[in-house]
Amino acid sequence: MNTKSKLLIIVAVMLLGITMATIVNISLNFREYSINSAIDKAKMTATIVKDGLTAHMVNGIMEKREYFMNKVSVNDGVKALWVVRSENVTKQFGEGLHSESARDAIDAKVLSSGETVKEVQENAEQILLRITIPYKAESNGGNPNCLSCHNVQREETLGAISMEFDVSAVRNSGLITILKILGINLGFIIVVLFLLNHYITPYTKLFTNLRMGIKKAHSGDFTHKFSTTVGGDAKLIISQMNTLFGKMQETFGDIKYNLATFIPDGCVSSTDPLHEAKTIIGELSDIYKFKKTIELDSSKDMVYVRITDILKTKFEITHFAFYEVNNLINERKLVYISEGHSICFHSIDKSALECRAHRTKTDVISTEFINLCQTCNADKLKYTCIPFTINADNSLIISMTARNEEELSRINSHSLSIKNYLEAAKPVIESKILMDKLRDTSLRDGMTGLYNRRFLEEFIDKIMNQAQRGNETYSVMMLDVDFFKKVNDTYGHDVGDKVIIAIGNVLKDNIRNSDLAIRYGGEEFVVMLHNATNEGAMEVAQKIHSSFASLVFDVGSGEKMQKTMSIGISKFPVDGDSIWKCIKFADTALYKAKTTGRNKIVVYAQEMSEDEHVR
Ligand code: GH3
Ligand code: MG
Ligand code: MG
Repeated sequence: MNTKSKLLIIVAVMLLGITMATIVNISLNFREYSINSAIDKAKMTATIVKDGLTAHMVNGIMEKREYFMNKVSVNDGVKALWVVRSENVTKQFGEGLHSESARDAIDAKVLSSGETVKEVQENAEQILLRITIPYKAESNGGNPNCLSCHNVQREETLGAISMEFDVSAVRNSGLITILKILGINLGFIIVVLFLLNHYITPYTKLFTNLRMGIKKAHSGDFTHKFSTTVGGDAKLIISQMNTLFGKMQETFGDIKYNLATFIPDGCVSSTDPLHEAKTIIGELSDIYKFKKTIELDSSKDMVYVRITDILKTKFEITHFAFYEVNNLINERKLVYISEGHSICFHSIDKSALECRAHRTKTDVISTEFINLCQTCNADKLKYTCIPFTINADNSLIISMTARNEEELSRINSHSLSIKNYLEAAKPVIESKILMDKLRDTSLRDGMTGLYNRRFLEEFIDKIMNQAQRGNETYSVMMLDVDFFKKVNDTYGHDVGDKVIIAIGNVLKDNIRNSDLAIRYGGEEFVVMLHNATNEGAMEVAQKIHSSFASLVFDVGSGEKMQKTMSIGISKFPVDGDSIWKCIKFADTALYKAKTTGRNKIVVYAQEMSEDEHVR
C-alpha cells in the first residue's frame, strides 16, 4: 500500500472515530434527557394528583375523584396512571375504587418502604419508564393536616401514585438527529478526503519520482530527470537535485572513463559506481605501492619473490607454480613452486612450447574442456594457467591449482587483478633483465671495464625504445684524446694503454649508475647521460675534461706527461630521433673541437652538419 492510501485511510478512520464518539455521546445524552424529563413530569403529576385528591377530600367529594383521575391520565406521554392505598388507609376508609389496590410488586414495595421506585424497560420498539412515588402523612402544621383525618402515624405512607411514561418518541427524534449528524459528518469526511487527496497527490508523486531517481542512482544511473507540480521549496529542491544529478553523471562518467584506462573492465564487479570507484582506487593504490617497491628492488629475482608474496597473501592462492620463459630458446625455468604442487612436466627438461598457456598466449582453465592441457598430470585438481609476455624475449607463466570448482572460480575471479600486478611489474622486470644482460662480460671492454661497441650495437635500440616510452633523454658525448698517436710513437703502446685505462677510471668516477660509458674504439669513448639537463651535461663534460687534463703520467726515466681531450655533445631525442644519429652528431661536434684547436668541449648545432656536407 502506498503512502497516500495509508494517509487517506488514517484520516478517514480518525474522522469516523470522532463521528462515532459524538453519536454515542449524543445518544446517551438523549436517553438520559428523555428519562429525566419523564421523571420531572412524573413528580409534577404526583403533586397535582395529591393536591387534587386532597381538595376532593377536603370538599367531601372523594367519590367524584375518578373523573379527575381520568382527566389527569390523559396527559402527553403518560401511558398509565393509578393511585394505590396503603393498608392503614384501606382499613380506615375501605378499598376505594377498583383500581386503588396495589397492582404489582413495585406498588407493594413502595407502600412498605416509603421510597420512590423508578424502572426503565427498554426494547427495540419502545422505552418505558415506570415510576411509583409514595404519598406520606404530613403534620407540619400545614392545612390540611393529614393526621387530622387519617388514622396513621406521621410520615407513614398513605398511598402511592404509579405512572408509566412512553419516552420512545424522544428516543426516536434522537435517532433522527443522530442520523442527520452521521450524514453531515460522512459528507464532511468525503470532502476532507477529496481535498486531502487533491493536495497530497502532487507530493506523493514527487516522493515516487524522488524514490525512482535515487534507486536508479544507486545502480550508477544519474540520468533521471526530477519533476514536480508542487511549487515553492519543493520546486527549488527538484531543480537542485537535477543540477546535482547532472554533475554526478558527468563526474562519474569521467571517473569511470579515467579509471577504465588503469583497470580493465570486469576487474571490479559492482552495481554501485561509488563502491566500484572506491575499489578501483584501492586496487590502483595497492598496485602503485607494489610498483614503487619493486622499482627499488635490487634484482629480478627479488621482484619475482614480491609477485609470489602477492599471490600468496593478497589473493590467498595456496597452490601455484611460477615460471619464467626464455622465448628465444623456448626454455621454461621454475621460479617458485608451492610444496607438492607440480602438475605438469618438469621445467627445462622439455620445451616451453609444451605449455599450452605459453604456446597459445591465452588463459588455460581446466573446466573449459576435458583434458584441456595434455601435459597436465593432475588427476582430481582443477587448474588455471595464466601466460604473461614481458617482451619478445621473455614471458612468465603462473599455474594455479584448486581442489574444487568453487576454489577455481575464486582464483579465476582474481585473474584480471593478477594480470594488473604483472602489467605493473612488466617494465621493472624488463629493465632488470636488461641490467642482468649488461653485466655480461662479453659486452665489456677488457682494458677499461667499460661497455664495448658490441654492447652498443646490441642494446642501443632497447635503451632507445625504453627512453621513448618513458619520455627520457640521453646526453650523448663523444670523447677523443688529442694527439694520442704521439704518445704511442714517443713512449710506446704501454704508456698509451695506461692513458686509455686512466680515461676509463675518470669516466667511471664522474657518471651515475643510470648513465652509460662505452669504449667506442681505440681512444674514443661514448658517454650517455640519462635525463641530464644541458647545464648538467656540460658540467659532467667539464669535470671529465679537467680530471683527465690534470692527470700526470709517469712515462719512465723520471719524465712526466699530461694529455688533453676534446669532447662533442649532442642530445637524444632533441638533436636526432635515434641514438645512433646523436652519436654521429656528437662526433660532428668532436670534429669541430678538433679542427678549432682541440682541448675543448663543443655542443652540437645543426649548422655543423650543414658545414660537414660542404666539406
Ligand atoms: P687527434 O687529436 O686528431 O685525435 O689525433 P690523434 O693522434 O689522437 O689521432 P687518432 O684519434 O686518430 O689516434 C688514434 C690512435 O690511437 C691510433 C692508434 O694507434 C691508437 N690506439 C688505438 N687503440 C689503442 C690501444 O688500445 N692502445 C694504444 N696504446 N693505442 C691505441
Ligand atoms: Mg685522438
Ligand atoms: Mg681517435
